[in-house]
Amino acid sequence: MVIPGEGGVAHAEIRRRNLSLMLRDLHLDGPQSRSELASDLNLNRSTVASLIGELAARGLVWERSRTKGLPQAPGRPSPVVELRRDGPRALAIDLSTDWIGAAVIGLGGVVIGAIRRDRSLANSDPTQIVDEIHGLVGPLLAGLGDGPQVVAIGVSVPGAVRAEDGHLHHAPNLGWRDVPLGNLIRERFRDLNVPVFVGNDASLAASAEHSRGSGRGSNDFICLWGEGGIGAGIVVGGRSLTGAAGYAGEVGHQTVNPDGNPCHCGARGCWEAEVGEEALLRRSGRDPLGGTRALADLLSAADRGDKIALTALDESGRWLGIGLAGLVNVFNPTRVALGGLYGRIFPYASQAVVRELDSRALSAPRAMVELTTALLGANTLLLGAAELALIPTLYDPTIGPPAGDSARVGLDQWRPRRASGVGRSVTQPEQARR
Ligand SMILES: [Zn+2]
Repeated sequence: MVIPGEGGVAHAEIRRRNLSLMLRDLHLDGPQSRSELASDLNLNRSTVASLIGELAARGLVWERSRTKGLPQAPGRPSPVVELRRDGPRALAIDLSTDWIGAAVIGLGGVVIGAIRRDRSLANSDPTQIVDEIHGLVGPLLAGLGDGPQVVAIGVSVPGAVRAEDGHLHHAPNLGWRDVPLGNLIRERFRDLNVPVFVGNDASLAASAEHSRGSGRGSNDFICLWGEGGIGAGIVVGGRSLTGAAGYAGEVGHQTVNPDGNPCHCGARGCWEAEVGEEALLRRSGRDPLGGTRALADLLSAADRGDKIALTALDESGRWLGIGLAGLVNVFNPTRVALGGLYGRIFPYASQAVVRELDSRALSAPRAMVELTTALLGANTLLLGAAELALIPTLYDPTIGPPAGDSARVGLDQWRPRRASGVGRSVTQPEQARR
């Protein structure tokens, strides 16, 4: 065995870093020509050719002629480099308050297959839910046949998650506390023998929206997300804000009204106890635990001009704006996206949100922030969970088996690499913005 000298190690790390930069560029921006890649990555053409060769040998990319109909530059046609559709895939799982979703998602955010079962997860048994997920995704995985591999599992859950091992500290709206969710899923899916990554729903929504939705191009971006509750995925200077253990962004449990409604977390007057689904349904005279059906009923009443429904939505918008003004003051984002429940109620509540934001946020950061809704729709959390699961592949394309090798990548084969210039935690979403 040859032990490389320092020069050899540095060269290998630079090579790995460049492979990763190229793969992430294609993952986020789609097919590109060699010269576009060279210019994007600031590399010379021979290095680009060699990197493409290695990514191709690993079954990650291929080159093809430009599709007919595209403008042709004079001279020799330049082929484009694109991600292989049969490359590594993530199994993404979305545990929301009112449904379980699952999808197989490839590099580039390509959804290969998805499935969803509407059912309340409130006060459910986590072990039973993990069994249900296993049954639900069986047909999805069977559909892959002997083809491309699932290299990791990513899970979205509406609660505070320890990034290190996917331990769920508390998901108030599910009634789950101290659930070793990462281990439960790893054990139930042991036949796949792949690593499992668990993330908070709002953080994963922000990651997906920042990569390919409403947050694209914004380095200071907040995605407010929730169904039953509310959380924030916060991108600061192009990087996801995680806090020390991954618990950051639990804005829903900031006190906004000390004498307000009791919250599932045990406190009173939390932001989500004022803006969440239960508060909205209660204000409209509906069963607070009515879930998606009651919410759909409320929105169609609002569409018909029902005064009580519109007033309830306006009041939720008021509380939404009150909390949002604080976030704008603290983080000075250029863009805030509302997703999940908040994206759906925004068209009815926007006047109240903007009114509170205008009157409570400081004028300078208020003037810089653009308020929008999340763009990725029903698959947002699944795309975010896949983004999390594919981080090891994206940040170190050399971990995957070369094409033709059927060995799966297991947890033991993957370690975050730390070396000069490339050391970084890869257990949390991190954006590849340049
Ligand atoms: Zn709370």
